[in-house]
Amino acid sequence: MANIIPLSISSSEYTTVKSTFTSKMALKYNIQIHSIIRVEMPKHIINNHKAYKKKNPNLRCAQYFHGTKHVCAIRSLNNSNFCQPNVACSVCGIIRTGFKLNNGGVWFSPDAWYSHSYTNLGPDSSRTMFIVDVVGAANSSGSENYVAYAEAIMPRYLIVYSG
Ligand SMILES: [Zn+2]
Repeated sequence: MANIIPLSISSSEYTTVKSTFTSKMALKYNIQIHSIIRVEMPKHIINNHKAYKKKNPNLRCAQYFHGTKHVCAIRSLNNSNFCQPNVACSVCGIIRTGFKLNNGGVWFSPDAWYSHSYTNLGPDSSRTMFIVDVVGAANSSGSENYVAYAEAIMPRYLIVYSG
């Protein structure tokens, strides 16, 4: 199980992540950020990611966006109220166990505005987008990218927003 830590809006980490997100989001969405949550994955998932990086030293590691759906009241998400594993909530699933391959890959984009179309309006009218570290991704703007290895991708932050 991951540990999730909402960032204080006065922290420099919050400011950095916010600008990463807003600089890659289209103005037309008029977004409002409700929270930015640091996601610290379980140790074995971090270790798998590190091992993958080490095995592929020539591959670049960079930040991307992964917009996805949720079914819970995400604005009040905390470490003790993730959805149960039998509930089809993509956000809680990723937080619990990391990314899984879907149609042979894990999908993401260098553009938040592109990933936005994969989010949904949840029960509290919020959307969710992960910022992820990806090893060995092609960097094609305006499209979906994927990697074929789940350990190549690591959730870093979850942005809860509306727009
Ligand atoms: Zn959930």
